Amino acid sequence: MESQGIPNSCDVVVVGGGPAGSHAATLLAQRGYEVVVLEKARFPRPMVGESLIPHFWKFMDHTGITPKVEAANFLSKAGGITVWNGRIHQFSFSAFGYDRPALHVERDEFDDLLLRHAEEQGAVVFEEVSVMGVDFSDDKPIVSYHSMRDDFRGAGQIQCRYVIDASGNSTVLAKQFKSRKLVAGKRTFLGMWGYFTGGNYIGVDGSSYGPESIGKVAPVTFISSHKDGWAWHIQLRDKVSIGLIINTNNVKRMGKKDMEDYFLNTVGNIPYFKELLEPATYIEDSMAFRPDYSFYSKKPAGPNFGCIGDAGAFVDPIFSHGCQAAFYSASVCAWAVDSSFRRPDRAENYGRLLKKRLQQHYGFSRSLALGDYGGDGVDPDLVIDLMKSMPLVELEMMLVASDISNRSTNFHKMAQQAGILEEDFADGIMSGKARVLDTLNV
Ligand SMILES: Cc1cc2nc3c(=O)[nH]c(=O)nc-3n(C[C@H](O)[C@H](O)[C@H](O)COP(=O)(O)OP(=O)(O)OC[C@H]3O[C@@H](n4cnc5c(N)ncnc54)[C@H](O)[C@@H]3O)c2cc1C
Repeated sequence: MESQGIPNSCDVVVVGGGPAGSHAATLLAQRGYEVVVLEKARFPRPMVGESLIPHFWKFMDHTGITPKVEAANFLSKAGGITVWNGRIHQFSFSAFGYDRPALHVERDEFDDLLLRHAEEQGAVVFEEVSVMGVDFSDDKPIVSYHSMRDDFRGAGQIQCRYVIDASGNSTVLAKQFKSRKLVAGKRTFLGMWGYFTGGNYIGVDGSSYGPESIGKVAPVTFISSHKDGWAWHIQLRDKVSIGLIINTNNVKRMGKKDMEDYFLNTVGNIPYFKELLEPATYIEDSMAFRPDYSFYSKKPAGPNFGCIGDAGAFVDPIFSHGCQAAFYSASVCAWAVDSSFRRPDRAENYGRLLKKRLQQHYGFSRSLALGDYGGDGVDPDLVIDLMKSMPLVELEMMLVASDISNRSTNFHKMAQQAGILEEDFADGIMSGKARVLDTLNV
């Protein structure tokens, strides 16, 4: 029996219609499979994470959505500038030979494009439907959901051949499996962010520009360390996204109002941020936060399920790596699903391979963003293998970006073991690709 259009069986159920879910759903629908996406929210919905690195385009090309993303006219960004413990580091994407820009995107609009594309390619999308859990006792998993749709309010089930968990921070399956593990144990991070209008931003030349220059001078993603952690400044078309990453203890037991005061005071006192935001107006009530965002699942895949994007792992936003990881894991998962459907006798193998690929990419992000490796489910050999096989320009860019802080020492060591980085990191990578500046003209 169908619940107001929601079928009771299909090939693949995708839980969540964010970048990971939409991308996987598109790829599988394009292969002719019956794909049902169940998404808790009504799109467009707000989402943090507006800075995209240039290699995201290859994923757009793969699903054919590139013309739609281009037509949306998101703001191109030119590179990155960071002030880390007083040291100013600058790089531009053009130095790497990228011929397409990276973007700063309003995630509500960007994610909506991706989900509508999945729908257009044949995936059947139901918004305002929350997945409550999955029963794996049968070969064919049974997905239980609760619908809040106007046309149908209530519970229902879908039986399928494969479940893709792309529920982001909700981590539906990792919670069900009790396999969700916080990265770095007791080091609990909290991200908080808010939006301003009318402020200034920094271009790749290290100078500041006013709102009248938007669309003429490309911004950089600007990052600065501060007394409690680090902060981002991401210029969008008509507002700026400002965020803080801090240790959760800094806002312990605070209510929303006190957190907002803490947020505004802190960003208003960070050198350069202070000047950039002086003419800006805070958008009332726009502050939001996410505690304990850094985790991974110890059980990210099996023969009939895969946890992709944030639902499988998310480490840290410092290198704008989240959406990239979502598209990558979605692609590998779509490959695993397709391969398993073609060769059901080998589904166990494909499940193991997918698990390895997901752990490998998580290990890459983990060692890049948080220094030490060997714990937290990271297998250095897998990371080194990934380094050897990925496009050199992508690895080089991450290596250059990683030089902004002192966190990536082990990432550099692995790149050396992979034979990609020479002994002397600073001389080998900085030449021509990045610069250290004395000051910013803000
Ligand atoms: C503070 C912070 C800053 C960030 N900055 C950046 C950045 O600058 N650049 C970048 O690339 N990444 C950034 N990220 C990471 C980025 O936001 C994520 O990696 C990205 O959104 C992952 O996409 P996803 O599809 O896996 O998950 P999401 O985008 O979170 O989508 C998951 C979807 O699942 C739905 N869902 C949840 N539960 C259920 C359920 N039970 N049933 C059905 N649907 C459900 C949700 O409504 C949502 O639409 C940042 C993250 C944080 C925490």
